[in-house]
Amino acid sequence: MAVIIKTAEEIKTLREGGKRLATILAKVAKRVAPGVTTHELDEYAYTLIKEMGDEPAFLNYKPHGHHIAFPASLCVSVNNEIVHGIPSKRKTLKEGDIISLDLGLKHKGLFTDHAVTVPVGKISKASEQLLRATKEALVVGIESARGGNTVGDIGYAIEKFVARRYGIVRELSGHGVGKKIHEDPYIPNYGKKGKGQKLIPGMVVAIEPMLNIGSAGIISLSDGYTIKTIDGSHSAHFEHTVLITEGEPEILTK
Ligand code: MG
Repeated sequence: MAVIIKTAEEIKTLREGGKRLATILAKVAKRVAPGVTTHELDEYAYTLIKEMGDEPAFLNYKPHGHHIAFPASLCVSVNNEIVHGIPSKRKTLKEGDIISLDLGLKHKGLFTDHAVTVPVGKISKASEQLLRATKEALVVGIESARGGNTVGDIGYAIEKFVARRYGIVRELSGHGVGKKIHEDPYIPNYGKKGKGQKLIPGMVVAIEPMLNIGSAGIISLSDGYTIKTIDGSHSAHFEHTVLITEGEPEILTK
């Protein structure tokens, strides 16, 4: 499958969709507090998306190789869960947790993807540092996402920044986005300078580092979706949808 270069018209729509998604996710993040269930967060995200006349991208989405469709709009991954956690009425947040909120939006037929990890009340110093480092890793990755660079340059920059302080999840990666929620190319959070797919102005990509306090190893839960750290350590995840240009990358989900 080849990479898709978006037209000026499509970029306009993605810019509007990205802005809406950022507004919605910020509102959902504000609801995060001890005593709130992950189901409530999902329901709130769904309501906000529908109010704007858009569609949640993950609800009923069936990724390649999955037998069951994802049952919610929002992915909620708490503490040692890395990504793709399923919201539940039985899962109540408590002081000291960290939660990754990952949301995809379909606006006028085009997709954007965005994630943040937020603290639940007061969190440990180690969790605070993890959140800061993962957020910075995303900034560093985006900085390298320029026309003429390659996918390898993005991964290289993230890996160099992390400098073995955290485990970088390798089995999951960023991706092209726009016409579909997942498009080519895959964008690993590690890589070699100058290697891989060349970045071309008009490409739209989701960059999403996932860092673990402990080892990089992961396990999948029997629910078919939730991915956890193998050693039980906390994990964080930040993601933006970004337009590749000749110069400064443009963050669409802000
Ligand atoms: Mg994504």
